[in-house]
Amino acid sequence: MFEYAPAPESRGIVTIADSYGHFVDGEFVEGTGETFTSLNPATEEVLAEVSAATDAEVDTAVAAARKAFATWSRMPGRERAKYLYRIARIIQERGRELAVLETLDNGKPIKETRDFDVPTVAAHFFYHAGWADKLEYAVPGKPDPQPLGVAAQVIPWNFPLLMLAWKVAPALATGNTVVLKPAETTPLSAMLFAEICQQADLPPGVVNIVNGAGDTGRALVAHPGVDKVAFTGSTDVGRAIARQVAGTDKKVTLELGGKGANIVFDDAPVDQAVEGIVNGIFFNQGHVCCAGSRLLVQESVAEEVLERLKRRMSTLRLGDPLDKNTDIGAVNSAEQLKRITELADAGEDEGATRWSPACELPGNGFWFPPTVFSNVTQAHRVAQAEIFGPVLSVLTFRTPSEAVEKANNSPYGLSAGVWTEKGSRILWMANQLRAGVVWANTFNKFDPTSPFGGYKESGYGREGGRHGLEGYLK
Ligand code: NAD
Repeated sequence: MFEYAPAPESRGIVTIADSYGHFVDGEFVEGTGETFTSLNPATEEVLAEVSAATDAEVDTAVAAARKAFATWSRMPGRERAKYLYRIARIIQERGRELAVLETLDNGKPIKETRDFDVPTVAAHFFYHAGWADKLEYAVPGKPDPQPLGVAAQVIPWNFPLLMLAWKVAPALATGNTVVLKPAETTPLSAMLFAEICQQADLPPGVVNIVNGAGDTGRALVAHPGVDKVAFTGSTDVGRAIARQVAGTDKKVTLELGGKGANIVFDDAPVDQAVEGIVNGIFFNQGHVCCAGSRLLVQESVAEEVLERLKRRMSTLRLGDPLDKNTDIGAVNSAEQLKRITELADAGEDEGATRWSPACELPGNGFWFPPTVFSNVTQAHRVAQAEIFGPVLSVLTFRTPSEAVEKANNSPYGLSAGVWTEKGSRILWMANQLRAGVVWANTFNKFDPTSPFGGYKESGYGREGGRHGLEGYLK
């Protein structure tokens, strides 16, 4: 088990190797490509050196997945289910280790990795384990749906383990095999997941993980041995992938960016709405594709909501992500911090009013304070661009129709929230809003049974629920 771990250094309950290669055909293999470092974004301390997979290494991983597909796809669903249940249980057993590692590598608060990321990851494997043996003879008289083959899965850094679970669990449940590429700033929890696959005795080649950045991702997506491409990340890269696979037989799902509208009506319970606004934009430092990054608030209560929001923001604790009282952790990378800073500065330059609570930022690492922009117009960049950070833009509306018009005035269409006591209004709004998910009197709630995905430039295809399985079947 996990033999390739040169000079491991123990950090509390997690063990991080000095360097990582890839996980191919059930084994950890040393990389031959260029290396990059994975940092702790809260301290800028180097966590590990990681090798970027070369084209030849991608080729070996795809070949291993192809070989494993022959047996994995023919295995009875109830047998595949056993592996998924086993993985889910080991994730629970090693939950603290996973949470600490994810917090170290990503910068997100331990409160979130411990209480949200890891339990949701386990729930995803349990849920999909339950499907594995329900697909055979599902529709009497109809042939069983068939797995596609080898899935190339490319994921972002904001929920490294959860995005892995969203991709790997449905692929395996439906009889596909995978080659996954984690994001280059957060490879470590995927390496621990590989160890968990070994511990669960998952047959070699069913899950393969290649590390690297865009070049490795491009080589994986382009590989002729790949039957399905599942991508989560930015709209720009999603577009490039769509162009790359155009004209091939590869099936594609794209989960891309967002600029969610959180819409508060004057009859909403204000305290509850303020909590929802805070959770909508400051959860995971706002590194959330479906973040409620635009607050649309009815004019008659706008002042009161903004005042209460500022008061609540003043109580948020920013700092050491490993401290269980921390609400706001570190921004994941210097590059992301630069992007957030530039867009927030543009908001100020364009005339919106910027406010952050007094809060001391740690000297090392990448940090951005919780920030709210008021007096925002629809033309402002802070109202249009995905900032992917703890920055909220506040706009106002008078009527439900105006709220819908403003909410839909975005190239994206991933999420929205509606806060009102009126059930009929919730249903009307949900029908009008062009968003893959509409939450009512809550925000950022996720469940493996619910399909998730976008309209417009937020992508296509769905992950989660029955709909998510369809992306892996023919
Ligand atoms: P990104 O597009 O820069 O990178 C995502 C992944 O793609 C990384 O693993 C990266 O190495 C890889 N990659 C980069 N160029 C590639 C190429 N040409 N071919 C193949 N792979 C390539 O995105 P990011 O900065 O890591 O993540 C943030 C973005 O992800 C945001 O836009 C966010 O909204 C989106 N996101 C969407 C969802 C969703 O479910 N819709 C969920 C999480 C994040």
